[in-house]
Amino acid sequence: MKGALYPRSELRITPSIRKRFRHILNELWRRRAAELIAILDPSPGRGAKLRKTWRDGKINSLMDLVISAHLPPLRRWVAAKTTRKRVLFNRGIPKTEKAVIVKEKLEKSCGRERHLVYACFARGRKCLKVGRSDKGLNRIRNQKNAIYFCNASRVDVYFPVTKKKILPALECALTHLCHPIYRDSWPALTRWREKCPPCRDTMRVDAFVREIFPA
Ligand SMILES: [Zn+2]
Repeated sequence: MKGALYPRSELRITPSIRKRFRHILNELWRRRAAELIAILDPSPGRGAKLRKTWRDGKINSLMDLVISAHLPPLRRWVAAKTTRKRVLFNRGIPKTEKAVIVKEKLEKSCGRERHLVYACFARGRKCLKVGRSDKGLNRIRNQKNAIYFCNASRVDVYFPVTKKKILPALECALTHLCHPIYRDSWPALTRWREKCPPCRDTMRVDAFVREIFPA
């Protein structure tokens, strides 16, 4: 598994995930076969045809299942490869002070670290934003007016413990794990994406299904 973060054997493929995955594939096959069956069975009850929006919905469901099997090893990978620092905000702290506070609180212990990934959370643990920096904590401070820092009740900052260039994979991993509300674009289709196993697998699912089930 070239460039993988962890071996495929670590995926947690529960019976429920396996069953739902197969069920969706069977639905796709059934609709695909409906066109063939229609050649000699034009009766109305022979089943629906494969339509694009329906198929694309099924692709998304398949991709979600793949990602859920990946989450446990992905979470362990993040924990193993990073040191996490958490900054909590008391009520009453001015909104635009929060990003500045993150920098001030972490400066002493981690001020020399250039590479980091951060996750902002609202009250109720909803993730607002996942982002990364290769310019250290300044990147966080410079976003003091950003809505996701202003509305945060907590910011987690992850500092890689390895010298390898893992920032993009780490940002991608945390995006899978945290589901941020504010997302400019998915940390996109670039070469490093090979290093994120969930993304690589979902891209394969997407390509395979489009090829086998044209709509
Ligand atoms: Zn990914």
